[in-house]
Amino acid sequence: MTARLIVVSNRIPTEAEPSGGLVVALHDCLTAQGGVWIGTSGTPVKTPEPELRQIAEGAYTRMVFDISEDEHEGYYLGYANSVLWPLFHRRADLMHVQPEYADHYMAVNTRLADMLADFAQPDDLLWIHDYHFLPLAALLQERGVTCRIGFFLHIPFPVVSDILALPQANDLKDWVAAYDVFGVQTEGDVARVMAHYRDDPDATFDTQGRMVALEDGVAPRHFPIGIDAQDFAALALAQADAVPLAMTLGQKLVLGVDRLDYSKGLVHRFDGFAAYLEARAPDTPKATLLQIAPPSREDVDAYKDIRTELEQAAGMINGAHAELDWTPIRYIRRNVERDTLASVYRRADVAMVTPLADGMNLVAKEFVAAQDPDDPGVLILSHFAGAAEQLTDALMVNPYDAAEVGEAVQTALTMPLAERKARHARLLENVMTENIAWWTRSYLGALRGTG
Ligand code: UDP
Repeated sequence: MTARLIVVSNRIPTEAEPSGGLVVALHDCLTAQGGVWIGTSGTPVKTPEPELRQIAEGAYTRMVFDISEDEHEGYYLGYANSVLWPLFHRRADLMHVQPEYADHYMAVNTRLADMLADFAQPDDLLWIHDYHFLPLAALLQERGVTCRIGFFLHIPFPVVSDILALPQANDLKDWVAAYDVFGVQTEGDVARVMAHYRDDPDATFDTQGRMVALEDGVAPRHFPIGIDAQDFAALALAQADAVPLAMTLGQKLVLGVDRLDYSKGLVHRFDGFAAYLEARAPDTPKATLLQIAPPSREDVDAYKDIRTELEQAAGMINGAHAELDWTPIRYIRRNVERDTLASVYRRADVAMVTPLADGMNLVAKEFVAAQDPDDPGVLILSHFAGAAEQLTDALMVNPYDAAEVGEAVQTALTMPLAERKARHARLLENVMTENIAWWTRSYLGALRGTG
């Protein structure tokens, strides 16, 4: 039997031609070389069958498995999104630790491991995505599976002191060590994985202190995820004048695009924008911050407060600074389609990408790709976005320091064209080169042992 690529992710696209960066990348990759994509069926059931179910056959096969309603609560809303997500995003204080969450997480992973152990052949390549399935390789090894298994973590890897807040901190070490390739987004993440093994007798470090291997041969490696930059640039060009943005905008448009998530630092961003408004000289251009923030995970407790907090902050700032013909903050709490978004990115003078913690942040890369190279906008980027390692020509800020963020807004709005063009050209070079096809190639090279 020839080697198949088997991709596992929590969500799996159901449409014939899916949209969205990562999904398209994996779809294209599987279409080109064949293989199987496995994920949850999307709708919790009363009693899950212990079997994979094929939902589509084309250039590659799509298969799903069910989770129960209790598992949806415990594995998905609970352990994945109320324990691992906050912990990995430096918000251990928001963790909701419950023994039954961990039980459901292990139950789902164990059932999936049983199904995969029956299904996988020794020559297959297994590519597991994200924090929903950290224990899979360890569980598959216990079941005698010998094929190469890679993992890619889309979110940040936590610092050691935070990991101690996880009751399964020791298990996490074994889960990670069981992979042949443990892929993360940034060099910073690699360093944090290594720090976790600093005192481990099975971890080997080279003369510069870099971890090269664990007992089973794994070394964490970074593969910064990219976007389909060429396509996105073409879309933004085609959509350049598609969206009328008249209304009560100021003369300049500052843009924010984020899921409504505490990791995105939206209230901090509004405070930073308020600092710009307060320091602004009366004769300088009036800028409006257009914040697009579709709700997310509304059934997780920690998400319920952000919405109120953000609306209060916007109301207070607008109350203090709005004029008859100018609303400083406009806030849209719904999802905006990709085409429209491309148009708005291109129209924006400045993008504020100021998360408190973020695996990569694709919005930063989309903004760069969407600009007119002859009159580009300016990217303000948080040190805490994974993209900060690559997009070093952005205006880098500490999102916790409102005064610094306010100054960056002022600098961005008044940046001379020559500097805007020079910075953008270097950013674009990176976004175009280290794109999603490059990412997929690099990862699969490592998984096959050839890269
Ligand atoms: N996005 C969108 N519509 C919206 C808001 C966001 O299509 O209204 C897309 C955005 O273009 C990007 C993705 O959602 O591709 C967000 O990815 P990112 O890495 O920035 O953050 P995540 O939500 O994965 O934490």
